Amino acid sequence: MVSNGRTYPRCRRGGRFFGRRVNCEQVPLLPAGAVARMLDDPRKIPYLLVWRSRSDSTVQEAARIAPHYETADFGGLDWTGAVEVKRHDGTRNFIRTVLRARPRKSGRVRLLICPYCSVPRRALYGWEPGGQFTNSVTRSNWQCRSCAMLRYASEGGALVSRGRSSIARLFEQRFGLLCSPRPEPWLPYVFSSPRDAAAAGVCKLNDGCS
Ligand SMILES: [Zn+2]
Repeated sequence: MVSNGRTYPRCRRGGRFFGRRVNCEQVPLLPAGAVARMLDDPRKIPYLLVWRSRSDSTVQEAARIAPHYETADFGGLDWTGAVEVKRHDGTRNFIRTVLRARPRKSGRVRLLICPYCSVPRRALYGWEPGGQFTNSVTRSNWQCRSCAMLRYASEGGALVSRGRSSIARLFEQRFGLLCSPRPEPWLPYVFSSPRDAAAAGVCKLNDGCS
């Protein structure tokens, strides 16, 4: 499979998947809703997004998002409503956004345009498969789930245990399929000022939060 010039070996044998497998629920998710909130904030200030480990609460990823005004005509694209996403190591991504009508609802919703496939998305992801193991990840540019080659945990029926015994079938008829809890997306804590972030203990005011 080739995407964005990157190739990962993958094949199926006897129905089993071999190759890299990283679920999107394990990867920091940048929600379009948080970006919309920042852009709609009349104060026009950066927001700080922090992704904490769900097992020990340590900070695993952090990014500052801010309105971006500088490249109005860059690449012949519409940069109205674009945002800068800056990490603590100084790396920056510029993400375009677009307002779309809500299906079957009034009003409009802001979506993030994936910089690789240019498709408006409800979320982008900050890591991609890479490294030593088939399920290990590396930091990447913010991109959509498809371009990052991330899978849903539910893909391949991993969350559903279909019992094969007669007792299991009876149980399923009575109570439904035996399901594992569906993992939640890894959402950030959103702080609308470095002061709020410092108050919450995720950083100090002078350690590069702003
Ligand atoms: Zn994409």
